[in-house]
Amino acid sequence: MNVIPLTPGDMFRAVATADNTAYVLSSDLRIVCTNEGWERFARANEGERVLADWRPGRSVVDAICEELRPFYVEGFARTRESGRPWEHDYECSTPGRFRLFRMIAYPTYDGFVVTHALRIARPHDRAECSPADVYAAHGVVTMCAHCRRVRHPSFANRWDWVPGYVQAMPEGTTHSLCPACKRYYYGAVSSATTAPPA
Ligand SMILES: [Zn+2]
Repeated sequence: MNVIPLTPGDMFRAVATADNTAYVLSSDLRIVCTNEGWERFARANEGERVLADWRPGRSVVDAICEELRPFYVEGFARTRESGRPWEHDYECSTPGRFRLFRMIAYPTYDGFVVTHALRIARPHDRAECSPADVYAAHGVVTMCAHCRRVRHPSFANRWDWVPGYVQAMPEGTTHSLCPACKRYYYGAVSSATTAPPA
């Protein structure tokens, strides 16, 4: 069946609501415009830095953490080829709450309209570590780009939830992916059928 793609404007009007965040991307993944919900969300979360990083004309590839770029670039390419929307669940937690969002990228005839909506928000049930417990004396902190757990400086396979580092990322923090998130993003199973790590 041939699907006739909508124009970006028609698609944007069709899927952007008062409750979600939405933006239009050009075919080379540059931000064309955003809805009010997106600006509200940015101001409520990381504020001016996010608005500066995600301004119109900016490539979203540049704004995404390096570890996750291939996943998103390939995902958008698949969406363009298939003509079908791409759904992807990802974590964007705060120090106090586990939050899971769903991104949907809708292909248009010359780019995409992307929406993000909150699916789950609840208090964390993970064990908490304080920076002072083990990390403070070890220099560079490595944080998972997805779940924001922190790699233990002495045990490479141990990743801890340190809310204090989510609240205020130490200077010089580098990003990687923890094993669970790496499997989720780059595992053999399609992200559409894999539950994201909690
Ligand atoms: Zn992770």
